[in-house]
Amino acid sequence: MNSPVFVTQSALPKEETYLEYVRQIFQSHGLTNNGVFCQRLERELEAFLGVRNLSVCSNGTLALQLAIKMLGINGKKVITTPFTYVATVTALMWENCEPIFADIDPQTLCLDPARVESILLEQPDIGGIMPVHVYGNACDVQSFADISQKYGVPVVYDAAHAFGSRLNGKSLLSFGDAATCSFHATKLFHTVEGGCIVTSNTERLDKLNLLRAFGHIGDNYSCPGINAKLSELHAAMGLSLLPDAPDNLRQRARLASLYDEALNINGNPALKRPVLAKGLQWNHAYYPVLFATSDLLLTVIDELHRQDIHPRRYFHPSLTELPYLPRQSCPVAEDAASRVLCLPFWADMPDATALRVAQIVNSTTAGFA
Ligand SMILES: *Cc1c(COP(=O)(O)O)cnc(C)c1O
Repeated sequence: MNSPVFVTQSALPKEETYLEYVRQIFQSHGLTNNGVFCQRLERELEAFLGVRNLSVCSNGTLALQLAIKMLGINGKKVITTPFTYVATVTALMWENCEPIFADIDPQTLCLDPARVESILLEQPDIGGIMPVHVYGNACDVQSFADISQKYGVPVVYDAAHAFGSRLNGKSLLSFGDAATCSFHATKLFHTVEGGCIVTSNTERLDKLNLLRAFGHIGDNYSCPGINAKLSELHAAMGLSLLPDAPDNLRQRARLASLYDEALNINGNPALKRPVLAKGLQWNHAYYPVLFATSDLLLTVIDELHRQDIHPRRYFHPSLTELPYLPRQSCPVAEDAASRVLCLPFWADMPDATALRVAQIVNSTTAGFA
């Protein structure tokens, strides 16, 4: 009997590596409040990613909220994508922003700049744009930079999936007025719970660090902040896992090729993969496939469930269908959401598991032409 297979399995560092950090924490009694491990993690992440002005925080949702506050777009209309995890939109709503959905590009599944521009032309009161580098694929960053300049509207990237993805050699976290990442346990690199914000200048970084820690330094109270600090225990997890990141990325690339081959991805009429942006060195954060029809997708899910395999419908439903928002229409996102599936995928997944999943997908879709 095979044990259950989930869409991912959280990475763990060598136990001894983490415990050594914990011993140091026990000795110093330094548990939180921007401690030494937190600061060291920031420097090591900047070096690994090749970015500047990186600030860690307690999760990827608060990272988005801090970025919104930092740029002063809270309370405004913000254009975003409906093809993402719900946190992109709830973060906007907690900052009193009104999410305006623009449709996605049918190839990359990222926010379509042409749709964004037509909304900007119709609605002059848009305060910001929040595209998502979905699955670690790259948005059309050049078009968004042009649009941002032309209309004077800041761009915040939700780069929750983009750790380790590079576009023409540059980390995806380096684009936009700000970019945020999630270090949740299910993400490629994690601190159990955690996240970060990368900003384009050091003044913003100072503001961000104030916002992250109650908005005051000592007796000097400058703005209404929140508590979004990362604890030393969480930072230690990040420091323990970061040395494994290059290997993690390599393993993912290798496993993705294994899946591609086993699924005959280039010649299979039943399914295809999202198209990667030109110049992207992908992190393979997920293994998404688009089935030809939603019926086919549902049949495959049923069969995988029967064998105790649990893929996830990232991202379904399209957020245009959220019951707590006015209905907006984005047919491309709605169609993609109805047909997309993320197959089980993580860096140490055994080859045999990938081959077993692929074999079930193949046998279930065999009649489709
Ligand atoms: C995971 C995720 C978030 C939220 O990050 P948390 O660290 O879980 O709060 C935001 N946006 C996207 C696209 C995500 O996948």
